[in-house]
Amino acid sequence: MSSSKGAITMKQAIFDLLPPASVAGILVLWAVVPPWFVDQPWSLVVVTCASLAFVQLLEFIHERHPGWRINRQEILTDVFYVVLGSTVIQWLTTKLAEDPLTALKHSLGIATPWVAHLPYLVQVSFVILLFEFGQYWMHRLMHNQAFFWSTHAPHHHLTQLNAMKGYVGNPLELFLISLGVIALFDFQPVAVFAAFSVTGIVSIFAHANVRADPPRWYSFIFTTIRHHSLHHTALSYEDTRCNYGCSIILFDRIFGTYRDGESEIVGQDERVRLSIRQQFLFPLRPLLAMIHAKRQTAAPHSG
Ligand SMILES: [Zn+2]
Ligand SMILES: [Zn+2]
Repeated sequence: MSSSKGAITMKQAIFDLLPPASVAGILVLWAVVPPWFVDQPWSLVVVTCASLAFVQLLEFIHERHPGWRINRQEILTDVFYVVLGSTVIQWLTTKLAEDPLTALKHSLGIATPWVAHLPYLVQVSFVILLFEFGQYWMHRLMHNQAFFWSTHAPHHHLTQLNAMKGYVGNPLELFLISLGVIALFDFQPVAVFAAFSVTGIVSIFAHANVRADPPRWYSFIFTTIRHHSLHHTALSYEDTRCNYGCSIILFDRIFGTYRDGESEIVGQDERVRLSIRQQFLFPLRPLLAMIHAKRQTAAPHSG
């Protein structure tokens, strides 16, 4: 009896260490991979997919809530958004944001060669903080302005959390949240990839149905499922206006939006699960309602 209890405690202790161990593992991985791997256009996608597969697997070994258990419909939707994010959204971000920003940087003669000479971990930390700072304010804006909220609301209509759920949302929101100013700096590509892999795995764990509660030092800096499930709470819209940091909860602590706790019941309004079509059309709802109302008044009454 006591040995099985000991095994449970041991299992929990191991799971609690998995988020920080994964962050450390990713930092080491990018530090030791050969340059040819870094040069591949698919290298970051491969690491992201491996991270997703790893955490999704953990959901089957030690789930957090039975009510969040993944099913066929959820996994198909999630995979659709992972593919959308790493193809169309990534392409749009490159073409509409990063390339113009790089061109602007060159035309203005901005150069930061010193950045590439900083130690690897300093560069990675710099990229993470710079990018997450932007994400924090973009996310906060989305919870404070009606149109931006309409793009972000589909993500909050999720009725359960799983490893890939961070990728699920209206395409416009996915594009907006991917914007950053990293292209203005001359970081080494390996540091940028390591940074995005770190924020990736943190955000994956922060959405996953895994019973892992990392140590205090980790949850002081990084967002955990406790913080982020509270951000997804079904309690009320007002209650979601906290813990905006997608990967770095430290910004919420600094800017006064941090709240402790967690939520098992997640979702918006009536907790209705949206289809992909509904998620895509969500920001257009006022417009569609107007068109519908016009048609109703224009249509002849049929008795
Ligand atoms: Zn939100
Ligand atoms: Zn989320």
